[in-house]
Amino acid sequence: MPLKPYPIQFVSIVIPVYNEEQSLPELLRRTEAACRQLKHDFEIVLVDDGSRDQSATLLQEAAEREGSPVVAVILNRNYGQHAAIMAGFAQCRGDVVITLDADLQNPPEEIPRLVAQAELGYDVVGTVRNNRQDSAFRRWPSKLINLAVQRSTGVAMSDYGCMLRAYRRTIIDAMLACTERSTFIPILANSFARHTTEVLVEHAEREHGDSKYSPMRLINLMFDLITCMTTTPLRLLSIVGFGMAGLGALFALMLIILRLMFGATWAGDGTFVLFAVLFVFTGGQFIGMGLLGEYLGRMYSDVRARPRFFIEKVLRSQPAVPAPAVTVDGLTSTHTDQVSP
Ligand code: UDP
Ligand code: MG
Repeated sequence: MPLKPYPIQFVSIVIPVYNEEQSLPELLRRTEAACRQLKHDFEIVLVDDGSRDQSATLLQEAAEREGSPVVAVILNRNYGQHAAIMAGFAQCRGDVVITLDADLQNPPEEIPRLVAQAELGYDVVGTVRNNRQDSAFRRWPSKLINLAVQRSTGVAMSDYGCMLRAYRRTIIDAMLACTERSTFIPILANSFARHTTEVLVEHAEREHGDSKYSPMRLINLMFDLITCMTTTPLRLLSIVGFGMAGLGALFALMLIILRLMFGATWAGDGTFVLFAVLFVFTGGQFIGMGLLGEYLGRMYSDVRARPRFFIEKVLRSQPAVPAPAVTVDGLTSTHTDQVSP
């Protein structure tokens, strides 16, 4: 389907906030200024993810200001960045939703550019960080992650770590229909998207405070990311098992041939027979674990209960029973941008 311009009336900005009291004043000022450049109406939804500093109070004050575009969503405790963003999604009403980090590493000034791309008809607009300002310690894991995602989802986006992104309403609704607890939003979004694009954005160093991701949380995030898109690692167990058992069997065969052709000394006097047997059995165990994994993977996707499919829109030449008809491209269509249960 070719790209079709997407009319936008309302833009929502969703920002997760966790102990960011130092960045907040500047964040609010710059984000609001950037949004004023837009010709659309907008709201700025800030989700306080159980901060232990004054962030929640600051947000509340900002939201209570007369005529403020700020919507403050306060969570009772820390649920993690992606859960906080989901909470923001549930509260926002924009035709396009832009996510942003609160630490000002992604400049809010890029918002109009993302909106312009979404207006062209892209479902998801990602960003690539120009001259990324993170330590090598943070850069390497995310390089690895990007590579893994590209390999296993086939979605060609080069930077999943940057949360400055724009999503169309239909994608937001589809993501909200996913009931799973741990998720990684950029990848979840891509699984519902048709047209995606990426723009190059500036990336600044974190000015206040430290990264909220300790190495442990980063590992956790990486597992969220992997399990969010695939159960392949479980299948790897079987593959490893088959490989190991196969090699063990070959080794045993080789030992038998050597023994028959050249006598007992060539076969190491039977010492290696145990190894061959061991390999075959260990391989068998891995195959068994892989099999368990296959069941587990299927149970996981059932428990997660993601929508089985995602209907972008329904077009009918005959109007559906009482529905109001809208004309799109000469077709009479009933727009039911909907997500199946
Ligand atoms: N964040 C959050 N909850 C958390 C951790 C982080 O809402 O448990 C927010 C944080 O306030 C920031 C964004 O997520 O707005 C990204 O966090 P951070 O800058 O620490 O991550 P990094 O840039 O190091 O990946
Ligand atoms: Mg950051």
